[in-house]
Amino acid sequence: MRHLALRRAVIATCQEMNRLGINQGRSGNVSVRVPEGFLVTGSGIPYEAMQPRHIVEMDLDGGYRGEVLPSSEWRMHLDLMRTRADAQAVVHTHSTHATALSCLRLGIPAFHYMVAVAGGADISCADYATFGTAALSRQMLAAMEGRAACLLANHGVVAIGRSLEDALARAVEVETLAKQYWIARTLGQPVVLDEAEMARVLARFRSYGQQRRENDPAAIEMPEQRDQPRRANRRTTRARPR
Ligand code: ZN
Repeated sequence: MRHLALRRAVIATCQEMNRLGINQGRSGNVSVRVPEGFLVTGSGIPYEAMQPRHIVEMDLDGGYRGEVLPSSEWRMHLDLMRTRADAQAVVHTHSTHATALSCLRLGIPAFHYMVAVAGGADISCADYATFGTAALSRQMLAAMEGRAACLLANHGVVAIGRSLEDALARAVEVETLAKQYWIARTLGQPVVLDEAEMARVLARFRSYGQQRRENDPAAIEMPEQRDQPRRANRRTTRARPR
């Protein structure tokens, strides 16, 4: 069987989605890119019972190989894999708070700086279309423009990532933001961060995890390191004669 390890990783991601409480039953679906196209969860199989043979291999022309049909939302996965080079993996869920917002056709504005996790100053809600249709996929692609996540009206969430872990983490963050936004809205109208502030946030997100660069106003300020980096220590130990 091709891509056995990745098939197992897709199943693990699905099970993790339910364990984290961002998906219920068998409603969500997951895919990951492979050289031949992508692997996507099979249709209608409970995650607890899912085996590597229930993961379907699809090519970018919309053909599939496998003993079960691909997820009913295969079209969204296919279109993202076709058009988004930054999509190495796709996670689709019906997480409760994000889905509730989508039923009001509400996106998530910059009420919290973490909306930048989707790559911009807000997270859009795609216009409604019937599940599993090419029309839904078109609406989703439009809402995903310049973003790595969106809501789907009266439906749920789509998130892409550099890996399965990255896409799952983004879907979790969108659900967290939706919950926070929901609670804030019950108390009034949250203050929305302005464009200039979100530009600063996005610049900091881009430099996050990188080494400090001189004269970069966007760089995250780092405290001074007092001891030697770990790697240098290990090298010293290994170089010592026995
Ligand atoms: Zn769905």
